[in-house]
Amino acid sequence: MRSENNSVVSFHYSVRDAVDAAAEPFDDSRRRGKPMLALLGHGQLVPGVEKALVGREAGENFEIEIAPEDAYGVYQEGLLQRVPKKYFRDAQHLKPGMSTVLQTREGGQRMVTVHKVGMTSVDVDHNHPLAGKTLHFAIEIIDVRAAAPEELQHGHAHPGDGHSHG
Ligand SMILES: [Zn+2]
Repeated sequence: MRSENNSVVSFHYSVRDAVDAAAEPFDDSRRRGKPMLALLGHGQLVPGVEKALVGREAGENFEIEIAPEDAYGVYQEGLLQRVPKKYFRDAQHLKPGMSTVLQTREGGQRMVTVHKVGMTSVDVDHNHPLAGKTLHFAIEIIDVRAAAPEELQHGHAHPGDGHSHG
C-alpha cells in the first residue's frame, strides 16, 4: 500500500547538512539498528519529512532537502544565556558545540547547545542544534501499514501490529 495520512511508516534515514556534503551525518537510524516508526499526520516528525513520506511504498529509496522552516526552524538571535555552572550536571566536561541538559529553576530540564565555557558560568544557546540548517535526508521506506485504532487514539505509532506499546 501507499502511505497517506494515518498510515504507519517505518523507515531508515540518514540526515546531514545539505550545504556540507562531506560532513558527518547528524543522525543515522541504521547506527541504532532499528528503523524509525511514525504515524503520519500527527506531528511526530518535522513537517518536511512528514510531507515527503506521503505517497510512498515499501522499498522506495529517495533523497530530499528540507529548508529550516520545514525542519528545526530558523536560527533566532538573542537566545544566548549565561548560566552558572551549578545548573549543569556535567559542567567540567562541556565544550562549545556540545548539546547538554540544563536544570531549570522550576525543576525541569531543557536541551541547550554550549556556546562558550567560562570559569564559573557557561553561555548556552536555546536554539535547537539544527536550527537554521537546510538538511539533506536519505530515506528508505521499510514498511507501510494502516494505523491500528489504538495508534489513532494515542496519536503515535506502536511497534509490531500497532495494538499495544509492545
Ligand atoms: Zn500509545
